[in-house]
Amino acid sequence: MSEVIAALENLWPAERAESWDAVGTVVGEPDQEVTRVLFAVDPVREIVDEAVKLDADLLVTHHPLYLRGTTTVAASTFKGRVVHTLIKNDIALHVAHTNADTADPGVSDALAGALDLRVVRPLVPDATDPEGRRGLGRVCELDRPLTVRELAARAAGRLPATAQGIRVAGDPDALVRTVAVSGGSGDSLFDHVRAAGVDAFLTADLRHHPVSEFVADRAQSPLALLDAAHWATEWPWCELAAAQLDEISDRHGWGLRVHVSRTVTDPWTAHAASTATTDTSGAPN
Ligand SMILES: [Zn+2]
Repeated sequence: MSEVIAALENLWPAERAESWDAVGTVVGEPDQEVTRVLFAVDPVREIVDEAVKLDADLLVTHHPLYLRGTTTVAASTFKGRVVHTLIKNDIALHVAHTNADTADPGVSDALAGALDLRVVRPLVPDATDPEGRRGLGRVCELDRPLTVRELAARAAGRLPATAQGIRVAGDPDALVRTVAVSGGSGDSLFDHVRAAGVDAFLTADLRHHPVSEFVADRAQSPLALLDAAHWATEWPWCELAAAQLDEISDRHGWGLRVHVSRTVTDPWTAHAASTATTDTSGAPN
């Protein structure tokens, strides 16, 4: 276990996580042997059950189990139940969150890769990286220009399916040559997106007021926003991370079996398209 954890720490050093984050090993025996590893976005019950069924020894998730301190791991709480199930089944849990976001390659590289976008540079470069490759989000180019509508359709077709699909703010017929992407919640990056001079920004968790203010400023920067499900924007990282660990395992002759969970843990489970109208000019007859 400790060798595999060291390899994960080497890919995503804990000291590169944000100060508020909680990354690293949450559950695990350093001396236990590791054969099977499962990668997933969320350390939730369905994923832990999947790890048990798979007979995994190590679960690596993007999201932390406990972000803030706790005073209980009682199995009557859902997170405590996760801890109990993991320990009873000899499964370790390791988290790579903001340290995987800013890594090279990281979460947004995987997102760009899923959409066949060519990464040019980080959206918010990490000042501590002399090569300027690490950082939050990525600024990307398209092979050929697409309309916002076509880019949204590509995202809907390439990212794993969720109830939400892709929402668009802006002119669906505008042409996109350059796009910024950021896996997970990206509305704190609007200033950087505008400064990057891109035609579109694909991220998740966008809210009414920030988006409303952003598009109101369109005269200044007519770029489109594409909002995908948080889980869907981060899931491609699981495949990237699994491939990275697979390669390390091959190099060291560890013989690890590395799996990626395909369970959709996006909390939104259904979507109803609107059918009502606010048009009251034509009174019903
Ligand atoms: Zn996330």
